[in-house]
Amino acid sequence: MAKYGRTKQFAGEIEMVDTSVWACANQGCKCWIREDYSFAENPLCPICESSMVREVRSLPEIQG
Ligand SMILES: [Zn+2]
Repeated sequence: MAKYGRTKQFAGEIEMVDTSVWACANQGCKCWIREDYSFAENPLCPICESSMVREVRSLPEIQG
């Protein structure tokens, strides 16, 4: 079951879902990953190895 709220917004034909992500804390780095794709409790950025902060973004829903 999803542990985040599924507040659905419609942008064209793409369904946007509020998704928990890890975003790189380094302001010069735009890297982020979906929390569902990370198995570490406190992941490091795969690009610059900075710590990452948890936030919620509206992202296109993944099918399947
Ligand atoms: Zn980074």
